[in-house]
Parts: sequence; structure tokens; C-alpha cells
Amino acid sequence: MKKILTIIGARPQFIKAAPLSKAIGSSKIFEEIILHTGQHFDEKMSDIFFNEMKIPSPKYRFNINNLNHGAMTGLMLKEIETVLLIEKPDLVIVFGDTNSTLAGALAAKKLHFKVAHVEAGLRSFNNEMPEEINRILTDRISDFAFCPSEQSVQNLKNEGFDHFDTEIIRTGDIMLDAMMMFADVAEDHSQILDSVGLEPFVLATIHRAENTNDLSRLSSIISALESINKTTRVILPLHPRTLNIMEQAGIKTNLTIIEPVGYFDMLTLLKKCAWVMTDSGGLQKEAYFMQKFCITLRDQTEWVELTNSGANLLAGADTDLIVQQSLKISEANFDVPAGLYGNGHAANEIVSHLEQSI
Ligand code: UDP
Repeated sequence: MKKILTIIGARPQFIKAAPLSKAIGSSKIFEEIILHTGQHFDEKMSDIFFNEMKIPSPKYRFNINNLNHGAMTGLMLKEIETVLLIEKPDLVIVFGDTNSTLAGALAAKKLHFKVAHVEAGLRSFNNEMPEEINRILTDRISDFAFCPSEQSVQNLKNEGFDHFDTEIIRTGDIMLDAMMMFADVAEDHSQILDSVGLEPFVLATIHRAENTNDLSRLSSIISALESINKTTRVILPLHPRTLNIMEQAGIKTNLTIIEPVGYFDMLTLLKKCAWVMTDSGGLQKEAYFMQKFCITLRDQTEWVELTNSGANLLAGADTDLIVQQSLKISEANFDVPAGLYGNGHAANEIVSHLEQSI
């Protein structure tokens, strides 16, 4: 059997790992070992996803979190290197754009192990985002770049990847695989509507450093949500850390603030909400998969297909613009064509490509 080491550490990576682990599990030639860096570590941001989605338990689990970027990435590099030297995998898989992604790819590549990057080629063209740096560097040293959209393939070509050793493979988006795997069972396993009630609502999330660490952006966004909340209540799953920042800054709200939820609760909220407002990358796509409009609380997005098709409206942290965009979509019908991100079989496409290549 050939050995795949999958490196995950943050909430969206757990969700993306679920369909891929299933596809690797069905392969006759691969066995998978999971390494969890501990970047997200608490029950609501980590364990709940392993339990709900039945992701195999990590063989290695570190507790590397709450550090500055340099210290976190450095410590991850060191610990991952130790595991690589023990396991000597045939391939290392990393997902997305976190410090765990970059540390995994870099540790592996320096030891000459093959690296596959799932969700490759995405660009916001904002180099102030730590995620953008992680994406650019990880793509550059990957052997396989599994791209979820035509634009992500094009971004790599524009950066000269045709001249590099990276193989570019367009698959669909693996988050669609996850949603299709769990959408039917989610509501039966979720009690979230018992606690938040059935009255119509808008679903909002705010977690990106550019919003949570910048008080003026955070308070502008909250003002907009407050204003929308007067006509349609806003449910905001929020990390206690962000709630703390708000309380300390004296930002008061009447929003329905709840703790971060598990994936089944999230899918249920997505299904029932009127629309989504978020700075999350994953949720922008999930809103589209569920045929809901999304207002993105950022100044740019990697998911340009969504803005081009009208499914997603960018509003940054501009209070008036967020409110205006909400008024616009609250009256519009969602008639954006499906299929921008494939058909939900990305995990199988990735595994069959790897079966032929390594
Ligand atoms: N998510 C969740 N519970 C929450 C917030 C988000 O299950 O309270 C899910 C969401 O549905 C999506 C993923 O987490 O699948 C996105 O993660 P996040 O917003 O942390 O990261 P990003 O996508 O911005 O990298």
C-alpha cells in the first residue's frame, strides 16, 4: 500500500478532509494517516467535525495554536518534519490556505516528499491577507495543484506555472462533495432550530483577522447587521474571542449571537436562512450551493465566479453598502445557474488522478 499523510488543522480543512478520507479509504492502493496540527483545537471548532463526519482519528495530534504566525508556522514545520521522517509517506496532502497548509507543504518538500495541494490556485490579490501568502507559497512548491475552478487554473497559468514542475488538475470543489455527503442527514441530526426558532432569519459569520482585529471594520459590520436585524433577525455564530473583543470595545448588539456550530447545524441554518452575510471563504460557496444569495464582508474575494454571476455581492465593511445590498437581495430571486464548481465528485477525481500518478 502507498502511504498518504493528510495534514489538517483548521475547521474548513476538517470539512474538506471528510470526502477525501472516504475516497482514499475506498482506494485499493492507498492508506491514509492523518496529522492534526491543533491550529483549531476546541470542541466547537475541531472535535465536533471529526465526530459528526466520522473522519478517521488523527494518528498525530499537536496542540499548536494561539501563537503569532511565525512562531506557529515554525513550530508546525518542526513537528511535521519529525512525523515525515518517521512515516516516510508517498504523498502529503494539504488543503486551502492556513498556516498548517504552508507548514505541511514546506516541511514535506524540503525532505523531497511529493505534495498535493487541494483548493489550489485561488487568489484574492491582497498580499496583506496571511491566507494569500500561504496560498501562493504552497502552490509554488506543490507537485499536484488540484484547482476547484477555471479561474484558479488561470491564476496559476498567469503566474507562469506552465513552466514549473507543478501538475495542474482541475477538479470540482471538494466543499460541494462534503455538502452532498451530509446535506440529507444534517437536519435530522441537528437541534439548532429548536434553540434559534423558526422565524425567518439571515445567517452571518465574521471570523477573518482583517475584520475581527480591526475595531472600526468590526463596528461598521455590526452596525449594518443591527440595522438589518430590525426587519429580519440576524443569527451570528461567533467565536467567544470575537465576542470578547466586542464587549471590551463597548460594541452592543441585539443580534442573535450563538457559539460556533458544528457542520450539521451549519447546513441546517444554511438551508433555512433567507440569505448569508460572511467573510468566510467556504460559506460564500456553500450559500451558492444552497441557492442563497451571499453578501461578502470583505473588499475582495477569491471566488470571482460568484460575484460575476450575481450570487455574491461584495460589501466590505461599509455599513451603508451592506444594508443596501441586503435590501437588493431580499427582493430578488436566486436564478444563478448551478455547476460553477463541478458536480460534487472532486474527491474521487483527486484520488483516481493520484492512483495513476504516484
Ligand atoms: N462553519 C461551521 N460552523 C461555524 C462556522 C463555519 O461549520 O460556526 C463551516 C462552514 O459551513 C464552512 C467552513 O466552516 O464549511 C468555513 O470555515 P471558516 O469560515 O472557518 O473558514 P474559511 O472558509 O474562511 O477558510
